[in-house]
Amino acid sequence: MREHGKADRASDSAQALTTVEEPEMDAAVFRRKLMTWYRGHARDLPWRGVHDPYRTWVSEVMLQQTRVAAVIEHYEKFLQRFPTMLALALAPEPEVLAAWSGLGYYRRARMLHRAAKFVTSELEGVLPGTSTALRTLPGIGEYTCAAIASIAFGESIAVVDGNVERVLLRLTGRPEENTAASRTFVQAQAAALVPRRRVAEQHNAAGDHNQAMMELGATICLPRAPLCLHCPVYSMCKTRGEHLTQPRALQRSRPAAYLLSLRKSGTATEVLLEQRSPEASLMPGMYELPPLPQDALEGREPILRLRHSITNTNYYVQVYAARGPQDRGLRRAVPAAKGDLHWTRTNKLSSVPLTGLARKVLQRLDVMAVQPLQMPDEAITEESQGRFWGGHQ
Ligand code: SF4
Repeated sequence: MREHGKADRASDSAQALTTVEEPEMDAAVFRRKLMTWYRGHARDLPWRGVHDPYRTWVSEVMLQQTRVAAVIEHYEKFLQRFPTMLALALAPEPEVLAAWSGLGYYRRARMLHRAAKFVTSELEGVLPGTSTALRTLPGIGEYTCAAIASIAFGESIAVVDGNVERVLLRLTGRPEENTAASRTFVQAQAAALVPRRRVAEQHNAAGDHNQAMMELGATICLPRAPLCLHCPVYSMCKTRGEHLTQPRALQRSRPAAYLLSLRKSGTATEVLLEQRSPEASLMPGMYELPPLPQDALEGREPILRLRHSITNTNYYVQVYAARGPQDRGLRRAVPAAKGDLHWTRTNKLSSVPLTGLARKVLQRLDVMAVQPLQMPDEAITEESQGRFWGGHQ
């Protein structure tokens, strides 16, 4: 399964895999070596060996541009909440986003939800069994349809993600370039290597082959330091670690500050959240702690510092607590409009579509699980409900 960001570019935007050329190596020998290794070394991942196309679909969407470790954390929980396509289709979107919280790239969750609704209402709840038909569903690109068709339905179609692309370029001695010619070459090579038909003793030759290719890239043919001496196809490789690799993208650093404001409301505890604009280009409609401008922070000490990475940006995050009347200025520094701010019960946070960073901060500060009598005193306002927030209440 894939776990690197290049995958979408390499697959979903690619042309359908109709070109089958001669592979630049003995395909039968390559497949045999690869599968022998895969059977003995494949990681035991929760979506492997499942025979439910819906589950395969969920795992493939989650794995796009997301580390396997993060997906493992969310996959079972998501399926417990939405065990069937119908359950997913009937759920309100905020619930789907809440279950997705922490995986990032929330458009994937919205499109998955939209496609589940479409399959339920238009296709009698049955996921199509071919890559061509799958491709017509909302949000399913070239990679995802090939992955579901081969892994769940056994179709003989190559799956090309960033891992597979890297493996094939190194095997054949091509430079790791992000060009149309390079992608066309990789697609053709991948198509030439995938088994054409089911092999009697194998349950799903194409699906297993595709997963083995992705596994090889994810665990052996690593982007920066490939483990060539452990590679099952070392003898067939033209580069064996002597490849040219594109320079790593520059990391940017950005400061970010947020307000933690809590209050008691009867026996409950509430935290102030801000809903991002539905028109925001990133994470529209999601909830986060209210951002604070840097000039409001002077002379104050944060209650939490952490680093949060999103693609090529490292956010150096500081969280400030509004502790009572003396911090009214801090609360008033929040630039959000009144209508975007919401007091939310802490015991309901698990069903709120929080941004990954907000979830991380609230978990780090034990706010997610806080019960009223266990609140950290320094973070609770002394003022009563509905009176202290002034312009933002
Ligand atoms: S020998 Fe090294 S570079 Fe070649 S495919 Fe194997 S891991 Fe990748």
